[in-house]
Amino acid sequence: MDTFCYRERSLTVDGLDLAAIAERFGTPTYVYSKRAIVDAFREFRSAAAGRKVLVCYALKANSNLAVIDLLAREGAGFDIVSGGELARVIAAGGDPSKVVFSGVGKREDEMRAALEAGVRCFNVESESELQRLDRVAGQVGRRAPVSLRVNPDVDAGTHPYISTGLRENKFGIAHDRALDAYRAAAQLPNLEVRGIDCHIGSQITSIEPFLAALDKLLELVDALHAEGIVLEHLDLGGGLGIRYEDEQPPSRDALFAAVFERLDRHPRGRSWQLMFEFGRSIVGNAGVLLTRVEYLKRNGERRFAIVDAAMNDLMRPALYDAYHSVRPVQLRDDEPQRYDVVGPVCESGDWLARGRVLALAEGDLLAIGSAGAYGMAMASNYNTRPRAAEVMVDAGAVHLVRERESVESLFALERRLPG
Ligand SMILES: *Cc1c(COP(=O)(O)O)cnc(C)c1O
Repeated sequence: MDTFCYRERSLTVDGLDLAAIAERFGTPTYVYSKRAIVDAFREFRSAAAGRKVLVCYALKANSNLAVIDLLAREGAGFDIVSGGELARVIAAGGDPSKVVFSGVGKREDEMRAALEAGVRCFNVESESELQRLDRVAGQVGRRAPVSLRVNPDVDAGTHPYISTGLRENKFGIAHDRALDAYRAAAQLPNLEVRGIDCHIGSQITSIEPFLAALDKLLELVDALHAEGIVLEHLDLGGGLGIRYEDEQPPSRDALFAAVFERLDRHPRGRSWQLMFEFGRSIVGNAGVLLTRVEYLKRNGERRFAIVDAAMNDLMRPALYDAYHSVRPVQLRDDEPQRYDVVGPVCESGDWLARGRVLALAEGDLLAIGSAGAYGMAMASNYNTRPRAAEVMVDAGAVHLVRERESVESLFALERRLPG
C-alpha cells in the first residue's frame, strides 16, 4: 500500500485524510506513518534472514521517542552520535547493549555515560580518542569495546555535505593509518578491540560504493588477522538512499545480497557479525510536512506560494539544495501555475521547493514529501518560530508524538540583566 496517496482528490496517509489531521493539530505538522517505518525496517530484517546482521537505526535522522520506541520493539539496534541521543534511547526503552556510539568529538562525560549504560561498541574516530577512551574506561572501571572508524577513501557519489568517506573529510582514521591505530588500541589496557567500521556518506544510490568500502575494510581485517588482532564484527555504516524525486536507489535486498556475495568469497566471511547504521532509508519516506499556504504573490515573472513552514522546520532545501515533492492536500481544477514554495523567514535561502507547477489558492494545504528523515531532527527556532508538532498514524488512529512548542518556552531559559 502506498503510504501517501490520493483518495477522491484528497491526499491521505494510510487511508486517513491529511486535511483532517491539519484541522485537528494545526500546521506546520510532521506526519509519520508507523506502518511505513516498521515495513522499511522489516525489509532490512528479511533481507538479512539467516545471517548475523544487526541493523542499528541512526537516531540523528529522526530521534522522536515514538520512532525509537517502535524500532526498539522491532529489535533494532541504535547508532548514536551524542550523550543526548543515548539518553533518548534509554528514555524510549531501547537496549543500550545494542547501541553503537559514533561521532568525531565524543566528550569525556559522554564516554562515561555510555560506559555506564553498557553500550555495545564505541566507533572510535582518532588516535587521540583511543587514548581518552582508555583513560575514561580506567576511571569507570570497565573495558571499553571499540571499533575503529576507517576512512576508506571511496567516493559515495553524493552531495559534498553528506559525503564522509573521502580522505579530505574530517571523519574516521585514514586507511593508511589504521593498522598503527589498531596496534595502539590492542596495547591499551582498558580497551577491547571488537570490530571495524566505516560510513561513507548519505543518500547513496548505487551498490558499488558500499562494496568498494567493504573491500577496503577486508584488506585491513586480513592484515590485522595476520598480526593476531581478530575482529568480531564489520560495520558498514548507513547511507542507503531513498527516492525523493526520480532517484533509483538499490533495494534493501539487492544491497544485502551484494554484500553477502562479497563476504562469501572471503574464507572467514561468515564468521563476522555484520552491522549497519541506517537512518534515512528507514524513516525518510515515512513522513510528510503538512503546511498551509498563507499568501500567493507575484514578483515580476516569478510566482511565490508563501507557506507557514520554513527553513527552520525543514532545512534540507536551504542546506543542500535538496528536492522534496510538494503535493496539494486537496486537488483543485484551477489553472496550474509555476510556483516557488517559500517560508516566512527573513532569508533568501528560505525556500522549500522551486518551480513547481501547482493549482493553488490561499489557505490550501500542501504536503512536503520525504520529510521523515533530517526534517524535524534538524529543525531550529530561527526567527523565534516554535517547532512544528509531530504526529504518528497507527492503524487508523492519529497520535500526537510531540506537541507544538509554545512561544514562551522558546525564551523560558533566558534572563534579562539585573537592575
Ligand atoms: C548519519 C550517519 C548514519 C546514517 O546515515 P543515513 O544516510 O541516514 O543512513 C550512520 N552512521 C553514521 C556514523 C552517521 O554519521
